Amino acid sequence: MGRTTHARFPWVDYVVSGEADTLIGGLCRDILTHGRDIPAADLPFGVFGPAHRQAGYPAALGDLVPRAVVENMHALPLPDFSDYFAELQHSLYADRVHPGLPMEFSRGCWWQRSSPCTFCGLNGALMTYRQKPAAQASEEMIEMSKRYGTSRIEAVDNILANDYVEKALPRLVALPEKLAIFFEVKANLKRDEVEKLAAGGVRCIQPGIESLDSRALKLMGKGTTAAQNVQLLKWCRQFGVRVIWSILWGFPRESDAWYAQMGRLLPLLHHLQPGHAVRLRYQRFSLYHRAADQYGLTLSPAASYRYVYPLSERDLADQVYYFEDSEDDDAGRDFRALDAKRRPGVQAVIQGMDAWANAWCGLTPPILSMRDTGDEIIVEDTRNVAAEREQRVKGLARESNRPIATAEILL
Ligand code: SF4
Repeated sequence: MGRTTHARFPWVDYVVSGEADTLIGGLCRDILTHGRDIPAADLPFGVFGPAHRQAGYPAALGDLVPRAVVENMHALPLPDFSDYFAELQHSLYADRVHPGLPMEFSRGCWWQRSSPCTFCGLNGALMTYRQKPAAQASEEMIEMSKRYGTSRIEAVDNILANDYVEKALPRLVALPEKLAIFFEVKANLKRDEVEKLAAGGVRCIQPGIESLDSRALKLMGKGTTAAQNVQLLKWCRQFGVRVIWSILWGFPRESDAWYAQMGRLLPLLHHLQPGHAVRLRYQRFSLYHRAADQYGLTLSPAASYRYVYPLSERDLADQVYYFEDSEDDDAGRDFRALDAKRRPGVQAVIQGMDAWANAWCGLTPPILSMRDTGDEIIVEDTRNVAAEREQRVKGLARESNRPIATAEILL
């Protein structure tokens, strides 16, 4: 995309393809000295300049263009947000803005390295995974929070590093005033891991839930099951961690019947945090893009790009990130315009997700909990589907349920 941008738009002088962190300072210095006349041989790997328009672009690696990559994340400096905070201080709205600090602790995705999700085009085609050591991550969060006087940390990582729960969070648990942290995570977290995240100040996560049907999850290579996803939602509600999540639909080879079944399941889950139904978009670098033939796809740039870029279809295909299947009658259509007759299952899920979100619009979201008083287990159920709002279980029935009811547990 960077090379096409450079090749097709002559008013763009320089493009860094990939990660500019370690080369941007020197590059800017050279541009200030030489303007557009930096010889191609003097440009760092992954940088395209005016000289390349005459000399030709650097040789590709396989079918890829050169891409700058930072090997040592731990050596990167902390971001400097002082200009922003200085300006905020003088803003009329200073008391209404509660900034979070975007911070980066890893690049790439450790799951993608071994078994990429079929739809994911993050990280280009190189997919190298790098992370900062856990101890460095926690110290940097504390340092940045102190420096800018805000406890909100917004991690921009694709996925929480594997060892942070055990090695980074204990330092944060011990803080007298907790941070409020956001992370994207894999959805296969265990109960004790969610508990530790909450104790360490992780207030919000974005897990890759993507579906509540195990067959669909297998199709997309998520490595998780529907049961794991529901459990994660349950533990997040239990430990007070907000969840941002979605159900993706529109995968090659999916069955509408899976969605019909999912739609019937949704009302049972109204005591858990709702997500949204989102149509799959084909991303550059994803398996669907790289092996479109194998999935029976004929991909072309998403229609909206034609209104933005004055390029030929071929250049557009090199330029853009999102694609559509030209064989798909629904390509480019808003999901609400879907023909319900052709995808009744998907329609049921979309409507079911809306109903779920509505159930959470009131002051008190639905609850399904059980509490053991010693004599009896009290089950409180305020979901719309509840047979009874309160049920009391005594005697033998209580004894047989006790192992899972020793503390207040959301079902
Ligand atoms: S969707 Fe998430 S877990 Fe899957 S490969 Fe992409 S970043 Fe990794």
